[in-house]
Parts: sequence; structure tokens; C-alpha cells
Amino acid sequence: MVYNWLKNIQKLTYPDVCSLCGAEGHDDLDLCQGCRDDLPFNHPACQQCALPLPDVVPKGAVCGHCQKQRPKFDRCYAPLRYAYPLDHLVSSLKFRSKLAHGRLLSRLLGDFLVQQQCELPDLIIPVPLHASRLRARGFNQALELARPLAKRFDLPIDNQAVIRHRATSPQMGLDQKARRKNIRGAFELKGERLPQHVVIIDDVVTTGNTVNEMATVLRRGGAERVDVWAVARRAGQQ
Ligand SMILES: [Zn+2]
Ligand SMILES: [Zn+2]
Repeated sequence: MVYNWLKNIQKLTYPDVCSLCGAEGHDDLDLCQGCRDDLPFNHPACQQCALPLPDVVPKGAVCGHCQKQRPKFDRCYAPLRYAYPLDHLVSSLKFRSKLAHGRLLSRLLGDFLVQQQCELPDLIIPVPLHASRLRARGFNQALELARPLAKRFDLPIDNQAVIRHRATSPQMGLDQKARRKNIRGAFELKGERLPQHVVIIDDVVTTGNTVNEMATVLRRGGAERVDVWAVARRAGQQ
């Protein structure tokens, strides 16, 4: 009761405003109905790695990469494609510390997980940043996305379970072989044995190599099922 009252006062003082066009927000979101409807939803997508697929592909299809070599994670859920306005929202979260965008993106991801009737894991682990990058940025965007999800679904987060002990160059701009080499051995497992079902949280899955490498490490730590929850998936790259 008190909570609702406070929430209503807060709404009058700080109404939800669309992060993209400045119109009035809708459904408790910093996004209006029109901008939400225009988001680049990721379907059809590969059933396993969420790679965007052409419209002609039937539902439940698996991409050529996954058919050739199954990823180390079980399934990647990514509701949106990495195109406008996702590129804008994600980069202003990362590089201009717009943490409100993190809450918005996390909410969109959470709504999708509910819609997909996604099985909840025992633990969520955000993709860690290397200590030097964390110092420079001041926060880990994957952890910012993970926190509201943990609260919404009542899940524990462990952001110490895995560390990134080697700084890696950005995956973009490298060819496939260089990308795999760049990320290999970048993560190290810390702490205790992991529970059976673990989810990796990332902002954008670009090549799939980062989450693949992390899934390998998590399996080594005892996880039997590893899923990935990401806000967006980049097209045409694996
Ligand atoms: Zn709008
Ligand atoms: Zn795939």
C-alpha cells in the first residue's frame, strides 16, 4: 500500500519518458508504445544460438554454424537484433553510463523470458569485465542487466564465480579464427562448485565466442546446463 502510494507520487514527479523519442512512456517503461512496437525483434532466429535468420526459415530452425558444431552453451535467448535503436541504447549504457537504459533493456529481456516460458536457472552469472576495463568504466553493464532480472525472478547472482584474467581486444574487426584465439583462456573459475543450471548474462552476443568460452569454463566448474540470456544478437556473425 505504502509502496504503491510512493510509486504513484514518484510517477507524478518523474513520469516515464520514452528514451528514444521523448513521448510519454508506456507500461511502466521508459519507452512509448510506438517505439516499442518498432523494436527490431529477433525472429526468426536460430533455436540454439539466437543468430538472426532470414524470414523464410521455419520456426525452430537451427543455423548452419550450430549444425556444423554445437555451441558449448545449451541455448541462447536474445529478444532483439543488434540494430538501431539497440546499438544506441547499449552504447549509451556502456560508454555514457546511462544506467536507466540498463533497466529498460533488462525489462525487455525479462518480458521475453516470461513470454518464452523460459526455465529459470539455479544461478545467474554476468559476463565479467577485465579489472582494467571495469576500473575505466566504473561498472559492468552485464551486472547492471543481471540485477533487475535477479530481483524479478528471485534468482541468486554470482559476479565473482568467473573472472576475466586476460584483457582481450574487442572481438569486432577480427576474423573468425582470430576471434576464437583472442578469447581462448580469457576466463578463470573462482569459488565453489557451480549448481546444475547456470545462465550467463550478456548485453550483446556478437560472435558467440565469448559466451562459448565462458560456457566451457562453467561446465568445467560443474554446471550441466548453461544458457545465455542477452538483450541482443548481432546478425551474420558467429
Ligand atoms: Zn518513443
Ligand atoms: Zn545457431
